[in-house]
Amino acid sequence: MRHFLDHCLADFGRYQDAISENADFLFHSRLSAALNIGLLSPQEVCQAAEQRYLDGQAPINAVEGFIRQILGWREYVRGLYWTQMPDYKRRNALGFERDLPAFYWDAKTDMHCLKRAVEMTMDNGYAHHIQRLMVTGNFALLCGVKPEALCDWYLAVYIDACEWVELPNTLGMVLHADGGQMGSKPYCASGKYINKMSDHCQHCRYSPNQVTGEKACPFNSLYWHFLEEHRDTLQHNPRMKLIYGSLDRMATDKRTAIHDQAQQFLDQLETSPGYGQPHHTSGYATETSS
Ligand SMILES: Cc1cc2nc3c(=O)[nH]c(=O)nc-3n(C[C@H](O)[C@H](O)[C@H](O)COP(=O)(O)OP(=O)(O)OC[C@H]3O[C@@H](n4cnc5c(N)ncnc54)[C@H](O)[C@@H]3O)c2cc1C
Ligand code: SF4
Repeated sequence: MRHFLDHCLADFGRYQDAISENADFLFHSRLSAALNIGLLSPQEVCQAAEQRYLDGQAPINAVEGFIRQILGWREYVRGLYWTQMPDYKRRNALGFERDLPAFYWDAKTDMHCLKRAVEMTMDNGYAHHIQRLMVTGNFALLCGVKPEALCDWYLAVYIDACEWVELPNTLGMVLHADGGQMGSKPYCASGKYINKMSDHCQHCRYSPNQVTGEKACPFNSLYWHFLEEHRDTLQHNPRMKLIYGSLDRMATDKRTAIHDQAQQFLDQLETSPGYGQPHHTSGYATETSS
């Protein structure tokens, strides 16, 4: 915690949503595991960060952003888990059925952002929030990976894995499987978003600016395909109106080409039912967990 306060907190706000090719940790605190096992209390971490602001050593956007992660997210998901379980774990609002893509276990993919996120996960037992949500999570959402398969992966690979934090984030925030209880809209995004927030795309064989064709970033067609597939459930969500407006304005032949491109990608996606999963990590074997 002292290392974070001295060297990272001041830049936390500016870079908290960034993804870097080479900086595995950026300005994140790496305090989640210590918090989850009780070595640190959320209150002492928040108060220590606040003190740095009061002492003029860190700007308000950094300190507010950091405290919000703990008070606004960590403690919020804690409440959600303990008030909604055990039914919460069985939800699958979008009806996802796909097994986990095989590369989540070995990083063997030519999609560079995913490759780096899985590599960093394997190297460190850690990936920061935006990698979990907008890279590995976003891809699973767009492909329709079933909640139990994705939850097993997040529980298996991260040093801070704890079901009460992991489940609302994966089932709720990433997969929108709780129908919008955790977040008011799915965090779906195309390759353009990843290109804006990271420096990965310049190292990739795909182009984030192309939607169809051999060089097109798969996130792009998958994004529109996801919106088409779940139109009935999502189009009346006020926060999705703009994007469905764009989809509706698209020419029919373009929509057909995008649909075909995404479907072709999904048809050849190699999945791994049960592959590599340590048998003790699946919380799905039991109804409740501590
Ligand atoms: C799919 C998915 C699964 C996740 N699984 C876990 C998990 O099993 N255990 C876990 O502790 N966190 C989990 N998170 C939340 C978050 O990604 C990690 O807490 C964070 O990346 C840990 O790194 P850090 O300590 O450097 O965080 P920082 O970016 O430095 O943030 C500070 C602290 O805020 C808290 N925090 C930030 N975001 C969240 C969030 N969305 N939910 C809860 N707490 C948050 C953490 O305690 C973290 O240590 C998950 C997020 C996603 C999207
Ligand atoms: S082009 Fe697409 S797959 Fe490649 S790094 Fe960028 S977002 Fe990822």
